[in-house]
Amino acid sequence: MTTTVTLTGTGVPIPSPGRAGAGVLVRYGETMLQFDAGRGTVLRLTEAGVGLHELTALFVTHAHSDHVIGLPDVVLGRWIQDHVWQTGPLDLHLPAGAAAEFAARMLDPYAADIALRMEHVQEAPPELRPHAFACASEPREIWSRDGVTVEAVAVHHEPVPDAVAYRVRTPDGTVVISGDTRVCDEVEMLSRNADVLVHEACRTTALRAAVAGTPFEKIFAYHADTVALGGLAMRAGVGHLMLTHLIPAPDDEAGEGAFEQDVRLGGYAGTLSVGRDLMTATIG
Ligand SMILES: [Zn+2]
Ligand SMILES: [Zn+2]
Repeated sequence: MTTTVTLTGTGVPIPSPGRAGAGVLVRYGETMLQFDAGRGTVLRLTEAGVGLHELTALFVTHAHSDHVIGLPDVVLGRWIQDHVWQTGPLDLHLPAGAAAEFAARMLDPYAADIALRMEHVQEAPPELRPHAFACASEPREIWSRDGVTVEAVAVHHEPVPDAVAYRVRTPDGTVVISGDTRVCDEVEMLSRNADVLVHEACRTTALRAAVAGTPFEKIFAYHADTVALGGLAMRAGVGHLMLTHLIPAPDDEAGEGAFEQDVRLGGYAGTLSVGRDLMTATIG
C-alpha cells in the first residue's frame, strides 16, 4: 500500500487564481483524512477523485475562516447525497474553543434550506460527530484506526489561541501538517525524520522592508518565514517539504522560485515542492 498527500488548497484569504483555500488530504487505502476545509475544498476533493462519502474524518487546525469556510459545504454536500451513498455523520476533530464553537453553529444559517430539503428528499437533518480536544504543547494521539494514527500539538499562531499541527503515521511513514504557525520548536519536534512536511510559508525575510508599517507586518508575524522554515526542515531531517498557504501567492514560476531560494538559503537540501493545488506526494 502507499500513502499519498494531496494539497487540496494552497491559497490564503486573499483570492488567487487556481488556488483554493487551505486543505490537505492524506490517503492510505480506504482511510481518507482531510485536514482543514478552506474555500473550494469540495471541488478540489472531487477533482482528486474523492467523493464526500469517502471521507473517513476531517481535522481542523484552527478557527481562521480560510481554514473552515468550506466546512459547511463538505457537511451539507455529504448530507445532500446521502440518499445515494449512505455515510452517516462526519467525524470532525478540532481544537476546543473557537473552532469547536464555529462547528457547533455553522449549519444554523442553513436551517431553512435543511427544513425544505427534509420536506422533499432527506429523511433526517445533517449530523456531525464533533470531537473537540484540548490543545497541548506535547503531541497527543487524538485518532487511530486501521493502522493509521493522528496526533496533534499546539503551535504558535498567536493571537489565535487554539491552533494545532497534526502528525499522521501510516505503515508507510509519517506526514506532518503545520496548519498556520510561526516557525516553532513544536513543529520541529513533530517533524523529526518525517517523510513529508506540509508547512505554511510566508516570505517574511524578503518582504520585511516592504511590509514595515502596514497591516501585513502584523500578519507576517504569525506566519512561517520561509528562510527560518528551511532551517527547521534541515534540522528535523524532513524528507520532502511541501510549501502551502503561500504568502504572497506566486502567480508564475519565478514567484515560486523565490520561495525555493528562501528555503535553500535557510539550509534545507532535501526534496522541496512549492505547492500547487492537487500536487500529490507519495510515500511507500
Ligand atoms: Zn490562520
Ligand atoms: Zn490561514
